[in-house]
Amino acid sequence: MSQSLSTTNHSRDIAGLKYIYPVMSRRAGGLSIGINFNTNNACNWRCIYCQVPDLQRGSAPAMDFELLAQELRFFLDQVLHGNFFDQYAVPSEHRLIKDIAISGNGEPTSLPDFDKAVALIGKIATQAGVFPAAHFVLISNGSLMHQASTQAGLQALAGFGGEVWFKLDSGSEAGRKLINNSVQSQSRLLANLKVASQLCPTKLQSCMLSFRKQLWIASEKQAYLQLLDQIKKQDIAIEKIMLYGIARQSFQPEAAELKKMDLNEMQDFAADIKAMGFDVSVSD
Ligand code: SF4
Repeated sequence: MSQSLSTTNHSRDIAGLKYIYPVMSRRAGGLSIGINFNTNNACNWRCIYCQVPDLQRGSAPAMDFELLAQELRFFLDQVLHGNFFDQYAVPSEHRLIKDIAISGNGEPTSLPDFDKAVALIGKIATQAGVFPAAHFVLISNGSLMHQASTQAGLQALAGFGGEVWFKLDSGSEAGRKLINNSVQSQSRLLANLKVASQLCPTKLQSCMLSFRKQLWIASEKQAYLQLLDQIKKQDIAIEKIMLYGIARQSFQPEAAELKKMDLNEMQDFAADIKAMGFDVSVSD
């Protein structure tokens, strides 16, 4: 019997590989090939909506580059020339690779030799004919942009036509402390964003949710818009702002207290962002 691969099934080990996992992405509208550098479930942040089970604080472990190359070549071959789509009963309209996303069980840029991993993935996907048709995406919390390996990795990513999806869940330091358990100052955030956008096309991704009547309330929305204003004033180039809701189960202690945001409210907020001149999308 074929296994079904749905937009809600994001199991990291569905393909039985260490670094590669397939996702039918609701945002991408086709197959997204995820690459997980954080096989130890370690991140330098702890977002309250994080769906990583047994999340711990820390960095990605050293990469087995030979295994990564083997797995990626094998998996791309299964998708392009094998029976992957039949095996997982993927509907015909979704039988295309939309992107390869470096998005793991933690912050990917914490990987030692992050740049080497980006270059290797880009080279293999190009050789397989997947790039440049498919997108190459780095999903990052953006907190390690000061590292030389992160900057070199973003340069490599840009060389393959890639883009960064930079997490921004709150426009205030207090909001980010609450939602991300991070202690990122406004100035550090803006500096990181500037570095990212100068090296590679950068989009913001913001998770909208309700929590203890403290997140995404009127004052938080105002803080977010004020931050966007600063971004404009500092000439930081943002390609797009992607607002999204919580569709998946959080594995954090706060899970029961998280509430989905009303779609109309998200769309109203998107209209405010658009009025400032930004390209914006909403997915609930
Ligand atoms: S940055 Fe990503 S991996 Fe890290 S805690 Fe937040 S959601 Fe989880």
